[in-house]
Amino acid sequence: MNLSDNPVDMLLDSSHGKPKLLVVDDQAINIQVMHQVFGGDYQVFMATSGAQALALCKTNPPDLVLLDIVMPGMDGFEVCTQLKADETTDHIPVIFVTAHTDPAQETHGLSLGAVDFIAKPVNPAVVRARVKTHLTLKFQSDLLRKLVFLDGLTGVFNRRYFDQQLPVEWARAARSFSPLSVIMIDVDYFKAFNDRYGHQAGDDCLRQIAATLKRGLKRPADLVARYGGEEFACILPDTANDDALALAAELEHTVRDLKIPHAASSLARVVTVSVGLATRTVDSVGDALALLGLADAQLYDAKQSGRGRVCGAQLGVWSKI
Ligand code: GH3
Ligand code: MG
Ligand code: MG
Repeated sequence: MNLSDNPVDMLLDSSHGKPKLLVVDDQAINIQVMHQVFGGDYQVFMATSGAQALALCKTNPPDLVLLDIVMPGMDGFEVCTQLKADETTDHIPVIFVTAHTDPAQETHGLSLGAVDFIAKPVNPAVVRARVKTHLTLKFQSDLLRKLVFLDGLTGVFNRRYFDQQLPVEWARAARSFSPLSVIMIDVDYFKAFNDRYGHQAGDDCLRQIAATLKRGLKRPADLVARYGGEEFACILPDTANDDALALAAELEHTVRDLKIPHAASSLARVVTVSVGLATRTVDSVGDALALLGLADAQLYDAKQSGRGRVCGAQLGVWSKI
């Protein structure tokens, strides 16, 4: 994407998915007005109560909410407060649309986290322009948030994301008494690969391996990250040692099956990887770092015992394969 491209224009032009607006107002006539203003360019969703709005934001998160303040039951201020208190909805921009143009109310609304205030009756051109501005900012911040956690070379998650997620998954596994496996993968004789084929070819090789590892993971909750230069790491929630070993063996094979020539390898004619695996069993003691350390020790063993293979263990119960 060209950084000068406006993401809203791109979405408006694209066939897939126009931006989604949620209009919240207890008066049907006000919703109709907004539908006339936005119906052509946006997908407009409607809610006639605060509770309905919150439910919709959970099940089908909009890109922006146009929120009435005065509504029976839960008012707009309360809806905004709840949206901002929930980490799954706190990034959705909220614009209050209200007949109350009192500065104290406006200040209060902004202090709750709303991005703007628009007076009723609305001027279509003004409200369109403001919505577009806030959507542009929202899409740009979505993109930045994503980029912060992606590896620039391969497009898979980066080390920062992995380091953040591993303790989260450890805690989740401990809470739910489920296993958790971690896989470390290191390309064999990669320095020799670079020396033989050049750095560009090395980069391309890493991209291919990353894509293959990503395709090889089975469940939506599994993730692969680039952990370091030519090292990748996977987190496999709710995956016991046997299943993780089978998956690790499959990953090792799929990289070999890419058949990327490696004439300088002492092991094979193609690029191979060594794999270390560690599993947190239901009754393991320790923490996420211990699990990672064990996976790393297993990777070291895989290297020492000949490369192009998988070594695995369970935390607290050593079980070499
Ligand atoms: P081993 O089988 O023991 O893992 O040997 P190795 O040569 O793979 O390991 P070593 O740690 O000696 O070298 C890793 C090499 O990976 C050296 C470095 O230049 C290369 N490398 C690290 N990051 C990148 C990258 O982003 N692109 C390219 N092309 N090469 C990289
Ligand atoms: Mg290596
Ligand atoms: Mg290495």
